[in-house]
Amino acid sequence: MNLLAIVGAAALAASDPGVCQRELVVLGAGQDAGAPQIGNADDTGPRLLPSSLALIDRENGQRFLFDATPAITEQLATLDKLEPPRDRSGVKNALGLDGIFLSHAHIGHYLGLAWLGREAAGAKGVPIFAMPRMAEFLRNNGPWSQLVELGNIEINELSNQRFTVVSDELGFLPAIVPHRDEYSETVAFLIMTPDKRAIYLPDVDDWDGMEKQTDNSIEDLVTGSDFVFVDATFWDDNELQGRDMSEIPHPRVTATMDRLQHLPANERAKVHFIHYNHTNPIRDPASAESREVEERGFNVARRGDRVCLSE
Ligand SMILES: [Zn+2]
Ligand SMILES: [Zn+2]
Repeated sequence: MNLLAIVGAAALAASDPGVCQRELVVLGAGQDAGAPQIGNADDTGPRLLPSSLALIDRENGQRFLFDATPAITEQLATLDKLEPPRDRSGVKNALGLDGIFLSHAHIGHYLGLAWLGREAAGAKGVPIFAMPRMAEFLRNNGPWSQLVELGNIEINELSNQRFTVVSDELGFLPAIVPHRDEYSETVAFLIMTPDKRAIYLPDVDDWDGMEKQTDNSIEDLVTGSDFVFVDATFWDDNELQGRDMSEIPHPRVTATMDRLQHLPANERAKVHFIHYNHTNPIRDPASAESREVEERGFNVARRGDRVCLSE
C-alpha cells in the first residue's frame, strides 16, 4: 500500500490562520549514543543528544514526543520551557504529554521510558504509541513491564501504514522500514496536519530496501511532504577508521545528497539530516561538511530547530 495514497485519502479539518498552531521542535539530533560517546573523554566537539522531536499542538493544548531517549529529562525540560504543560482535566502526572511515539527498541529511542517509572517521575498513564512487537517487548520484559503494571504508561498499539488520528488536526502514520530489528519493528512516522506533512525517519538500512518495503522511494517522501527528517548516521564510507564499512548499514549523507541532488531547490530544502553519529563531521556546524550540505541545498537538523506545521 502506498503511504502517500493513504495520506491523500485522509481528510482533516482546516485550522485557523495566524500563529503557528502546530510546531515540530528538534530536541536532539545525534545517534543513539549522543556525543561525546562513552569512552571518549577527550572529545571536545559539540555535544549531541539522541534524536527526538517534540510536536506541539497549541490549538488543542497537546504535546507529543517522538522517541524517548536516555536524555529525556533534559529534552522534556526544553519542551516545558518552550511550551509549558497545560493544566488539563484528565490524567494527573502524565507530565503534560499526550503521547510518546516510539520508532524502535534501540537504546536511543526508548530507554528514556525508564524515567517515567517510580525511581523518577512516577508518571501516570502516559500514552505510548508503539508497533505490536515493540508493545509486546515492553509488556514482557523488565523493567518496562513494571511501567505497564504500575500504570506509569499506557500502551496504544499502532499498525503498519494505518493512521492514528488524535484530533481533527493531527494524524500519525507509522511505516515499517528495514533496520536491525532484534526486539521490535522499526518505523518511520508521517505526521499530518491539515496544512503540512512531516516525516521522522531516524534509522533505516538503505533507500532501495525501504522502497521495496514501503512502496515509497526517498524521492517520493520528499516530494510528498513538507519536512523530512532523515537518517544521517554516517557522512561517508571513510568515517570509521580501521573498519570495513561496507557491511554497516545506513544511507550515507553524501549518497543521499547525490541521490536527491537532481530535485529542484525547494524539494531539497525539505530534507533535514538527523541522527548523526559522534564521528560524523556534520556534528560541527562550522565544518566543511556542514557547509557542503547547505551549499547543496539541504539542511542539518540542530537541537532547538523549530518548523511550523500550520499556515
Ligand atoms: Zn538510532
Ligand atoms: Zn536503530
